[in-house]
Amino acid sequence: MAKVLQPFRLFNATVILPDRLIPGGALDVEDGRLTAVGRLDDLPRWSGATIDANEGFVAPGFVDLHVHGGDNADFMDGTADAFEAVVRAHTRHGTTSIVATSTVARHDQTLTFLENARTLQRRGAEPARGLARTIGAHLYGPYFNEEKVGCHPKDPARPPTPDEYEQYLEFADVMLTATCAPELPGAAGFYRAASARGIRLNAGHSNATWAEMTAAHALGVRHVDHFYCAMSSVSSLRERCGTPMQASMLEFVLDHDDMTTEVIADGRHLSPELLRFVVKWKGAGRTALVTDCSRALDQPPGLYTFGPLDGGETFYNDGGVGLLPDSENLASSVRGMDFMVRHMHQRAGVDLFTAVRMASLTPATILGRQGDVGSLEAGKHADFLILNDQLEIRRVFVGGEEVSVS
Ligand SMILES: [Zn+2]
Ligand SMILES: [Zn+2]
Repeated sequence: MAKVLQPFRLFNATVILPDRLIPGGALDVEDGRLTAVGRLDDLPRWSGATIDANEGFVAPGFVDLHVHGGDNADFMDGTADAFEAVVRAHTRHGTTSIVATSTVARHDQTLTFLENARTLQRRGAEPARGLARTIGAHLYGPYFNEEKVGCHPKDPARPPTPDEYEQYLEFADVMLTATCAPELPGAAGFYRAASARGIRLNAGHSNATWAEMTAAHALGVRHVDHFYCAMSSVSSLRERCGTPMQASMLEFVLDHDDMTTEVIADGRHLSPELLRFVVKWKGAGRTALVTDCSRALDQPPGLYTFGPLDGGETFYNDGGVGLLPDSENLASSVRGMDFMVRHMHQRAGVDLFTAVRMASLTPATILGRQGDVGSLEAGKHADFLILNDQLEIRRVFVGGEEVSVS
């Protein structure tokens, strides 16, 4: 039986909309949905319960389309407990819609990951247990270019074959998005098969040429993972193809208005001016913030495993980022989405409402879920956060129910 939640009005807040702030703002919640959002003075009379936001900011809950782990658990660990631990960790950091993301792994590990994602998606949010919404899965790997595999285990990276991916595509009900390097043999077949099941297509961990991106785009690829990281550049294509120098995935994304991308705004992957540059030239509506976070979220510095405990890659968490041992190479972030939003605003100098939009409405739109989540708008799920003036998270609500943060 569905739980009956008492309607309430939240007031005394600066409400963050995608394009502006509303001081003296309020919002009304009934049956888990927002029914009114605006200046308190403009809202209808209210005689029910109220919550005082204590002059804090109220932001939409964040949407993370690329996240691997947290609280020393990884979505690839293969157990329901580990899966929930990751969701709980990111819920605490303000992510209320989570796309569980796999890593390069063995076939059976990927299948188990998809099973776990399906189970949690079907169960829905459980705020009383600290769990936000798992809105789907991102098949991320194994179809990466070995040369651009980054911190993922190298050995199991492989080109797509129908025998294998047809089993993954049985999970089309939960697979929101899938990444494949366009230059791999068999990539076109994979894109066609995934697209036929309504799955969104990404290019990533790739050294693709302009021509390979053009072919991928014609098959429906519209998103490139973590801009500037593990993707082709003019210099990487010069090594691959010689001269004349060629335009890369980077130029392809900037040149095509229907392509979207994402950035890891943890302050360690990309400098502030590079983050500002992407927002200026690609636009905040087409650039999502992602955490790409590993299991080292909220864990002390030390050695951890990226991906499954069984067969994943060892990396070092220095307290601010993951690093591959014996090299300068980065191995994913160790931060939650609240950190990324603060960094975009406080260090990269992006407007607060723009930084929040990049963590909410933009990823929701990339995933096609903007009708339900991603902004504070009447009709959408009442997924929202109360932040203090330092943009630290004070309270998290999912479907109008407060998340108990342990
Ligand atoms: Zn990656
Ligand atoms: Zn990743």
